[in-house]
Amino acid sequence: MEKREQLYEGKAKKVYATEDPAFVIVSYKDDATAFDGAKKGTIAGKGAVNNRMTNLLMRELEARGIPTHFVEELNDRETLVRKVRIVPLEVIVRNISAGHFASRYGVPEGIVFDSPVVEFSYKNDALHDPLLNDDHAIALGLATREEIDRIRSRALQINEMLKGILAEVGVTLVDFKLEFGMTPAGDLVLADEISPDTCRFWDSGTGEKLDKDRFRRDLGNVEGAYAEMSRRLMGS
Ligand code: C5P
Repeated sequence: MEKREQLYEGKAKKVYATEDPAFVIVSYKDDATAFDGAKKGTIAGKGAVNNRMTNLLMRELEARGIPTHFVEELNDRETLVRKVRIVPLEVIVRNISAGHFASRYGVPEGIVFDSPVVEFSYKNDALHDPLLNDDHAIALGLATREEIDRIRSRALQINEMLKGILAEVGVTLVDFKLEFGMTPAGDLVLADEISPDTCRFWDSGTGEKLDKDRFRRDLGNVEGAYAEMSRRLMGS
């Protein structure tokens, strides 16, 4: 599939048109941002790790019955995906307290929840992605009740699948963010990425952080954490 004009540039990815309007090419960058864009940097090799990890996990999810936008990995940084209309909700699933859950509710990191917490944010840079509930999302016309119900149950299924896949390589899935898209035929599919940028991964034995929190909090060895996740899941 031929790469044509750039359609969009986000903080971590660029999207290009192809000759077929039903498909776009996603290109992963090494650029990193945190705290709503206030902190900027580069993580060498991140684009390739995130691209390859996302594709591996999306293939695993597809094999377990979860439809995704993934079509074909083109090279280390670029992937062909189905063009979808992104539902403007960030869907966050939490298994253990960390990040904004800990800061917002004044609890320490590391509390293991009896059942996962699903949370939605409104994907809107100008408003700084505010947290919202189902009723807010419906009132704002971001999704229907039926779509939200499907998104929630799909996110919880994905959580169980990812927890299992990661446990096999000694990684605890603390929390993560998903985005879903609608195909022109009206099918809900998993889109965006599943990577150390969008998930919190802790080593199951030592608790060591193997994700973007190393960049957010200046913990050092940022590239090493991405490389370690790559080694564990992809073997290199
Ligand atoms: O910051 P917070 O604790 O709400 O993040 C929860 C999870 O969602 C983390 O794994 C984080 O990496 C991810 N996230 C994301 N993009 C955002 C907000 C959160 O990938 N805009």
